[in-house]
Amino acid sequence: METFSLRVKDELARLTGARSCCERTELLGLARAAGVLEAGQSGLRLIITTESPVVARRAFSLLKKASGLTVHISGRPRRIQRHTLYAVTLPTQPGLKEFLGDLGLLAPEEGPVRSVIPKEDCCRRAYLRGFFLGAGSVSNPERAYHLELVTGSRNHAAYLIRLLRSFHLRGRRVERKGYHVVYLKEGEEIAAFLTLMGAVQSRLELENIRALKGMRNQVNRLVNCETANLTKAVEAACRQIENIRYLVERVGLENLPLPLREVAKLRLEYPEATLRELGAKFKPPLGKSGVNHRLRRLEAMAERLRR
Ligand SMILES: [Zn+2]
Repeated sequence: METFSLRVKDELARLTGARSCCERTELLGLARAAGVLEAGQSGLRLIITTESPVVARRAFSLLKKASGLTVHISGRPRRIQRHTLYAVTLPTQPGLKEFLGDLGLLAPEEGPVRSVIPKEDCCRRAYLRGFFLGAGSVSNPERAYHLELVTGSRNHAAYLIRLLRSFHLRGRRVERKGYHVVYLKEGEEIAAFLTLMGAVQSRLELENIRALKGMRNQVNRLVNCETANLTKAVEAACRQIENIRYLVERVGLENLPLPLREVAKLRLEYPEATLRELGAKFKPPLGKSGVNHRLRRLEAMAERLRR
C-alpha cells in the first residue's frame, strides 16, 4: 500500500476520545469493510482481517469495549506477499449473536446500516472512518488525487455515496474485478474527507503538497515574472508568490499562523488578483489594507528566515 495511505490509517487508528455512539458505528463500518461472519458447527463468529497492526489493535479494542466479550487477535505471516495478515476474532460464545444483532451486523447490508447509523453527524463520520480503515486507500498526493472505498455490495456502495453526499462530497462508483469502488478524485474533496474522518495531520500534509503543486502551475502561468516591463502590481504579486513558496518549503504551510496561511493560499490560487479582489475572497471579506498588512507580514517572515 502507498505510504500516504498508511500514514492516514496510522493517524486514524490512534485517535482517541471518541464518544461511545461513534465507537460502535466506527466498529460497524470497520466490520462491514473488513469483517466476515462465519457460521461454523458450534455457531457464529466474526473475523476482521487487516494488514495493518495498528488497525488490528484498534479493531481489537473497539470490539472488546463494545461487546465486553472474549476477543482474540493473531498475526500470521503470509509467505507470498511477505507481510503479515492480522485477524481479530470474536469467537463463538454466549451473547455473541445478540451483540452482532445490536451492532447491526446480522441484518442485510442495506437496511441495517440505514437504521443503525443515527442521524448524528459524529457517527456518520465515525462510520466512514471505520470503513476507510478496513477497506479504503488513498494515493500519494504527489502522484495523484485518488481516494477509494471498496465493497463487495452494490447496495453498500450506494449507501457510501449517500453518506458522502451528506457531507457535500461527490463519490463516484466504478466496478473493478467484481468489487464496487467508491472514489473521490478532487484534491479538495479528499482533503475534506480526511478532515471529516479526523485525520487532521494528514490533511495538512496534503494541503502542503497541493499548495506546492498549485504554485508550480501558477509560477508557470506567471512566466512574465522574469521579463521586463512588469506593472508594479504584477511585480509585487511575483515577489509575494516567491516568498510564499519559500515559506512553504522552509516551514510548511501548516505552521504559518492562520491569517497568514489564508492569505498565502489565496495569493497562490489567484496570482493575478488585485489586493481588493483577494480581500473579497476572504470569509468574511477583508479590506485592501488588511490584505496588504498580512502579505507584508508574510514577506517579513520570509526575509527573516533568509537571513
Ligand atoms: Zn456519535
